[in-house]
Amino acid sequence: MALISFTNKGIFCKQGGFYIDPWQPVDLAVTTHGHADHFKAGNKAYLCHELTKPVLLQRLGIDLPVQTLPYNKEITINGVKLSLFPAGHVIGSSQVRLEYKGEICVISGDYKIEYDGISTAFEPVKCHTFVSESTFGLPIYNWQPQKEIFGKIRKWVTDNHLQSKTSVLIAYSLGKAQRLIKNLAGDTPIYVHQSIANLNDGFIKAGVELPPTIRITSDIKKEELQKGIVIVPPALADGKWMKSLMSASTGICSGWMQVRAGRRWKSADAGFALSDHADWSGLLSAIKATEAEKVFITHGFVSTFSKYLNEIGITAWEVNTQYGNEEEEEILKGA
Ligand SMILES: [Zn+2]
Ligand SMILES: [Zn+2]
Repeated sequence: MALISFTNKGIFCKQGGFYIDPWQPVDLAVTTHGHADHFKAGNKAYLCHELTKPVLLQRLGIDLPVQTLPYNKEITINGVKLSLFPAGHVIGSSQVRLEYKGEICVISGDYKIEYDGISTAFEPVKCHTFVSESTFGLPIYNWQPQKEIFGKIRKWVTDNHLQSKTSVLIAYSLGKAQRLIKNLAGDTPIYVHQSIANLNDGFIKAGVELPPTIRITSDIKKEELQKGIVIVPPALADGKWMKSLMSASTGICSGWMQVRAGRRWKSADAGFALSDHADWSGLLSAIKATEAEKVFITHGFVSTFSKYLNEIGITAWEVNTQYGNEEEEEILKGA
């Protein structure tokens, strides 16, 4: 019997009796990371990396039964060996490795290959069966090194200052926001929306070294914000508060910004193609590195990407899941 199956509740390991990132309530949800499409309320118990726990607690309350694991430490559940490996997607994000009677299966959740300076770097794990996302599984998606993108963001901030404009970066509160903070920290103060500040507090308590930021409160003057860098989640991008800022310049940080067309691009003054997902070549290199015999492709450009894999000799199937590219989509909805 296969070690995992795709059910109407999520990815199921029958031998172990648990689900990975289920979208309907189950007894035990192994959670790859805290983005809303991979993690739902209502499960009886959760198992995740120790740095994903603060996110779950913040989103669902402190009474949540959460068991944690560090990376590379094996536990056994009903005879199935389970361990977590870094996925490089956001702080605490994990690939789930399962082993049973010599059969190894890895469920990657969301992942990216380039080290972002704050999330533990992605680690390829050899397996027989690999489950991969394909959010940016088209050849047009090829990221620039983040060093270059951050260079552009810094230049944009300087130009805004010269024109007395407030630099507002729109970034998802889990992942992108901490990546921006870590890489933009310097002489310019960074102001963050409270949803980001709350997550940061949880991470700092859990031992993550994040540079200092200033929580945006009602008594911070608009003139002050203008001298700094402001980071807000997509939900705020259209709101009253943004309109109240003095001549704001908005910049969206999302992989979708690579294609500068349509509504995705129009709604902001600047777009930076900074993604927490692997690009086309990243997906291919990750899949090859697993040496998997079978690959299952979940959310993203599922059909195109799995067809391509079969063409190059990698046996791949499309899988229907309820995962979406939530953190990227939110940006577009909000913007
Ligand atoms: Zn995610
Ligand atoms: Zn996802």
